[in-house]
Amino acid sequence: MKIGIVGLGLIGGSLALELTRQGFYTVGVSRQEKTCCLALEKSIVCESGVDLQLLGKCNLIIICTPIKFILSTIENIIPYLPPETIITDVGSVKGAIALPARELWKNFVGSHPMAGNANQGIEFAESGLFNNAPCVITPVENTPSEAIKNVREIWQRVGCRIYQTTPELHDQAVAWISHLPVMISANLISSCMEEEEQVRSFAQNLASSGFRDTSRVGGGNPELGLMMAQYNRQQLLTSLKKYQQNLDLLIDKIENNNWEELAQILRETHRDRNKFL
Ligand code: NAP
Repeated sequence: MKIGIVGLGLIGGSLALELTRQGFYTVGVSRQEKTCCLALEKSIVCESGVDLQLLGKCNLIIICTPIKFILSTIENIIPYLPPETIITDVGSVKGAIALPARELWKNFVGSHPMAGNANQGIEFAESGLFNNAPCVITPVENTPSEAIKNVREIWQRVGCRIYQTTPELHDQAVAWISHLPVMISANLISSCMEEEEQVRSFAQNLASSGFRDTSRVGGGNPELGLMMAQYNRQQLLTSLKKYQQNLDLLIDKIENNNWEELAQILRETHRDRNKFL
């Protein structure tokens, strides 16, 4: 099977590397010539270039560009593809992509591998990034079963655990466990930065594992965080407002020395964290 990967960054590069290592014939297309050269030099792909026409011979194409370019990339590659070509994407939101993409191309199935880190670009491509990561597949009404089967198989080959659901349920769930944490973590960093100089610089010396964990996603790729908010706006706002209500409740407990109720909340969160991880 020939697999095309468009957008050779952290996700596209890591995916291409893993698929190439597994013996697939991989064709990598990216925006910049220098990225394609690096992909070939590092044997991340079998063939690479900036010309979308290269994808014409692929059986399955995975769009790994930033979210805002996913639909336009599909539109731009369509003239080069035979109708049986299967297309999927890796975008972190699905509602804004899956339905319009399905309108553009019958054999489109959305996917979202829940893997990544704070880095950006092909320099950080690593094999094994998807090992044991959940991957959500979001077919819509009338998506051909053969396309779903092929997309599931590719993600299984790179080590993902597959979940299949609607784009809407995907977006509601990731708002809670991915997009809301990015905003909370970013807000933690910017709030700390507003502290007066003497306290802030001393705190910076003391920050250790706790701050590393809680600030990690807020200190990640800013372009990705922005697109999560723009393309999953409604679900993110719902979770942010619920979070704000709960934050007010915590403030109220502390202001009123309501230690028993605060202790009860913390006992529950101590118990419930395991349910997510
Ligand atoms: P990234 O490291 O910035 O990679 C994106 C790459 O796409 C860039 O390196 C760029 O390569 C290329 N590109 C940009 N515009 C393009 C275009 N119009 N046509 C072709 N290539 C283009 O970002 P990423 O983290 O891999 O994210 C890519 C996608 O994965 C996003 O849709 C994101 O939602 C999704 N995702 C990310 C994560 C994560 O944690 N990072 C997790 C799951 C899913 P050049 O060097 O050629 O410019």
